[in-house]
Amino acid sequence: MSSYALKKHSPHDYIFKQELGHGSYSTVYKAVDKKNLKKCFAIKVCSKRHIIKENKVKYVTIEKNVLNSLGRENHPGIIKLYYTFHDQDNLYFVLSYAINGELLQLLHKMKTFNEVWSIHFCAQIIDALEFIHSKGIIHRDLKPENILLDKNSNLMITDFGAAYIQKNNDNKENITTKSNGSHPCLVNTNSSFVGTAEYVSPELLLYNHSGYGSDIWALGCMIFQFLEGLPPFRGENELKTFEKIVALEYKWSDQFKISSLVKDLVRKILTVNPQDRITLSEIKKHSWLNLVDWDNKQKIWSSVWN
Ligand code: ATP
Repeated sequence: MSSYALKKHSPHDYIFKQELGHGSYSTVYKAVDKKNLKKCFAIKVCSKRHIIKENKVKYVTIEKNVLNSLGRENHPGIIKLYYTFHDQDNLYFVLSYAINGELLQLLHKMKTFNEVWSIHFCAQIIDALEFIHSKGIIHRDLKPENILLDKNSNLMITDFGAAYIQKNNDNKENITTKSNGSHPCLVNTNSSFVGTAEYVSPELLLYNHSGYGSDIWALGCMIFQFLEGLPPFRGENELKTFEKIVALEYKWSDQFKISSLVKDLVRKILTVNPQDRITLSEIKKHSWLNLVDWDNKQKIWSSVWN
């Protein structure tokens, strides 16, 4: 039987257009396929030298492994990784292009989302998160910057560099992962924290452990933020933010007419003890999400204004 070598991709297959943004170890460009100019991608370019210098090899490898394993099933709520390749200087991730940018940018533009929009986004995050968790993966860095919007303003979760991949012998229900200070929000470099502190779970702060519940905690922070415009726990510095998180010190402003139903849901998510925290399947049954037809993917993923 003859075998064929798979065609290797290279940066020369693409026309690189404008820069879409850059992260701590990468720059992302819009790019089109030279052979099919209608095919548009976001290509994340990571400098090998920079990754080694900044000790980011682990994060890049995790991101690639997670996106490869999640990507096989083409979930609409996860950014798709089409190919990876490298040349002498860089690693390249060819990703689906999120034309409408970050959810955070949309929130800044709108100031707050009303409850219908919040339900629409929340349902999509839950659907994607359920899928991620079902594969034994904890995202561990969920926040509106890490959620991108496609052309129909449907969400795609991205940035899996901090994710934890369950090993076969982990207990799937009660998985907790020891951070060993490797969580990007908790890596203390030159006495300033890298990343955003506002979504870190109390179990990570108190016991240096995170689990599926830590992603649910971040979801609770985001629901609050959708409705109030800002995340629930904010201090003048990271330490003060952390103190507020473990003291569960947050307050609805009562500036907007926010239903008692959603406040109840957020209260059930934001519990210091992860064992007391509502699970994703319980959240799906909560009255605030009554209108969501969980069995009809099309409806979850169709726009609220349709
Ligand atoms: P860090 O890696 O430091 O956490 P980051 O996640 O923002 O930062 P990148 O993943 O490199 O870093 O993304 C940089 C920017 O590029 C993002 O802020 C986002 O706005 C944009 N971007 C990333 N991926 C895509 C995509 N698939 N489509 C459109 N824009 C994207």
